[in-house]
Amino acid sequence: MTSETLPCWDLSDLYAAVDDPKILADVEASQQRAIDFETQYKGTIAADSLTATHLLQALQAYEALLAADYLPQSYAQLHYSTDTADAARGALLQRTREFSSAVSTHLVFFDLEIGQIPLAVYERIADAAMLSPYRHYLDRERLMAAHSLSEPEERILVETANSRGRAFARLATEVNTRARFPISLDGQVLEKSQSEILVLLYDADRDVRRKAAAAISAGLQVNSHVCTYIYNTLLHEKDVLDRLRHYAQPETSRHLANELDGAIVDTVSDVCAANFATVARYYRLKGKILGIDDLMHYDRYAPMRGQASAIPFAEARRLVLDAFGDFHPELAQMADRFFTNNWIDAALGAAKQGGAYCAAVTPDHHPYVFMNYTGKPRDVMTLAHELGHGVHDVLAANNHLLDYHPVLPMAETASTFAEMLVFDRLLGELTDPGEKLALLCSKVEDTFATVFRQISMYRFEQQAHRARRDEGELSTERFSALWQQNMQAMFGDSLRLGEEHADWWLYIPHIVDVPFYVYAYAFGELLVLALYARYQQEGQGFVERYFRLLSAGGSRTPADLLGELGLDITDRAFWQGGCDLIAARVSAAESLAAGTGAITSR
Ligand SMILES: [Zn+2]
Repeated sequence: MTSETLPCWDLSDLYAAVDDPKILADVEASQQRAIDFETQYKGTIAADSLTATHLLQALQAYEALLAADYLPQSYAQLHYSTDTADAARGALLQRTREFSSAVSTHLVFFDLEIGQIPLAVYERIADAAMLSPYRHYLDRERLMAAHSLSEPEERILVETANSRGRAFARLATEVNTRARFPISLDGQVLEKSQSEILVLLYDADRDVRRKAAAAISAGLQVNSHVCTYIYNTLLHEKDVLDRLRHYAQPETSRHLANELDGAIVDTVSDVCAANFATVARYYRLKGKILGIDDLMHYDRYAPMRGQASAIPFAEARRLVLDAFGDFHPELAQMADRFFTNNWIDAALGAAKQGGAYCAAVTPDHHPYVFMNYTGKPRDVMTLAHELGHGVHDVLAANNHLLDYHPVLPMAETASTFAEMLVFDRLLGELTDPGEKLALLCSKVEDTFATVFRQISMYRFEQQAHRARRDEGELSTERFSALWQQNMQAMFGDSLRLGEEHADWWLYIPHIVDVPFYVYAYAFGELLVLALYARYQQEGQGFVERYFRLLSAGGSRTPADLLGELGLDITDRAFWQGGCDLIAARVSAAESLAAGTGAITSR
């Protein structure tokens, strides 16, 4: 940890303070605008008389009122996250959320009606030049709407949402948050929460890691009945809704939301599975470095020696801006504005939220970066990551609000790319071979977690959803067998998961909250690895095309955007290129370890 003063952001260009009267005035104006919008446009969109001019006016009005609604909400969210113990900030957040829900009830008709515009009418007006900026949004909404039910049916689903699947998902969160994991350390029995016990898997002492793993397994057993029941129920509900909405496969609705063809996702998944040997190769090396012959699942996150010393924030800023500047001076200039204009909150506070994020407000307002800076090399990467998001938002600001955000599989492009630039810079600047090896290994492990682990989870989900559909309600043991089989595949014989690991699917939030969400992580990371490989081959020739990709925001599908860069994401070789870069890093770690005598022989 460093003792310097860390930056706090300046939110005054949103509102003056938590009690600024303008906040409530804006919130109330938003609500009135939403009511007016509904009065003016409801019933006029899905109509034979619809004209391009009328649809354009409605879209612009819709956008303007969404943008106005985002300002108070964003302020409340940002301000709350730096001090969650302040009651006034909490109350403001709750208030803006409630207002915002009230606003959305007046807007639900709009997307539904876009989907219901009669085909002949849509074909008549959709090619009008004035609608061309909205064509992608309209086409997308119509694709989604093809799976909508009737308006009264949809209304029932909206009104009962909090007592169906969402209620079960929340119950899973609450059960897991309340779960306690007793562990005996130094002769004392401690009751750990889930996040506290998971941290112990990173402990340098193998005995602590082993005990933590046993405590996790025992703790998960306590709630396994209720968590299995919840998961069965969610899979069944999805089966029913997929049938009613005519989604052919369990994954289809996710692919549609991600604007990806299912065949492309299958290719990504197959290529990853074909590269599991890279994971096994790395863990064999890790076993040798740690001097452990029988690597177990609780050794996965064991730390390496040679962790770097604390990096002051000013130094992190220099590192990031230098790395960005080497790519292109404009990238560094865009990122520098975040520092000079106080758009970054990096300070530490007792009641500050954990983690990091970049908040995009609207195309007309700059983004903000939130993080907790503790001086670790990892924090420098986080700063780069969030600034990558920030620069993406700045570049995409030429799009209208409805096309501002990229779809999920593209959302991590700029952030991951920025991390790679800074990672290479940081690795190049380190002189101590032990520190270099530790940094390289932590990067390799992070990449495994994002790529191969997510794909293994995706394959588990695919099998779990199908098994529930074919076999009816499943036992904990049945889910656990699927989990174990899919997770072990990635490690081969390099590391043994052990029987006690079989139930560890029980606490994974993503598979409960958003089915099939996980593959987007692997897609995004491999995509960036492949882009980075292009950059290394083409140098400055790549830069302009990369900026163009980011500037497009969410205005086109991933396949179209990447096709414009000359990349064919249906081609296995494209994805293999990303996997090859991961393998190259493992090779680099192998040579570093051999050269520095890091391998412990016992
Ligand atoms: Zn991110």
